[in-house]
Amino acid sequence: MTTISSAQRTDCNAAPMSAASSFAMTVTESFGTEGILRELMTRDELLDLFRRSGALLEGHFRLSSGLHSPGYLQCALVLQHPRHAEALGRAIADRTRDLGATLVLSPALGGVIIGHEVGRGLGLRAVFAERQDGALTLRRGFTIAESDRVLVIEDVLTTGGSTRETMQVAKAAGGHVVGAASIVDRSGGAVRFDVPFSALLDIALPTYEADRCPLCGEGLPVVKPGSKPVTA
Ligand SMILES: [Zn+2]
Repeated sequence: MTTISSAQRTDCNAAPMSAASSFAMTVTESFGTEGILRELMTRDELLDLFRRSGALLEGHFRLSSGLHSPGYLQCALVLQHPRHAEALGRAIADRTRDLGATLVLSPALGGVIIGHEVGRGLGLRAVFAERQDGALTLRRGFTIAESDRVLVIEDVLTTGGSTRETMQVAKAAGGHVVGAASIVDRSGGAVRFDVPFSALLDIALPTYEADRCPLCGEGLPVVKPGSKPVTA
């Protein structure tokens, strides 16, 4: 897919200024963060994919972490298109192939589709862990062997918490975690792991504690993403 190869290429070569879409400008004005504009400009085609899919929303959101943010990234809206999911999976596979993984493990639900597509790209089995009594667990007969070199795949990295928990699932099963990757890293690069990590797209959307949120201060209603349609 030209979309993804271009997105990778722009890691090294800044995209032309003209590639900055009006959407990019809108996001930057709304968020007031130079970093966002820079990221959008260097990954314009990948961001364009998110834009066209409605996967990057603006407004006032309460994230699953409880934090508030003026932006919300919903990868499912990109991944609902199988050809996009496949392309993203292939792009992550290309970045992680050298790790020599033998198995892909993802946390449900967000990581399932992209994990499957990374597995396709690497020619590996892809399994997922899901919550049971609050803890991520391997179910459905999925197994991880002690000889397995496990690659943990997520859709969006925010705090790194679920990636770490997924790594623990692999370790508890005796597997060896060789790396992790996600479609998007919205941590601003703040999250570090003791294994190699890469993301196709870095977007440092600001987050606020609910009692310090400037959007709340403006009296804007807060939306829990996914609870109702959000107007673009
Ligand atoms: Zn708020």
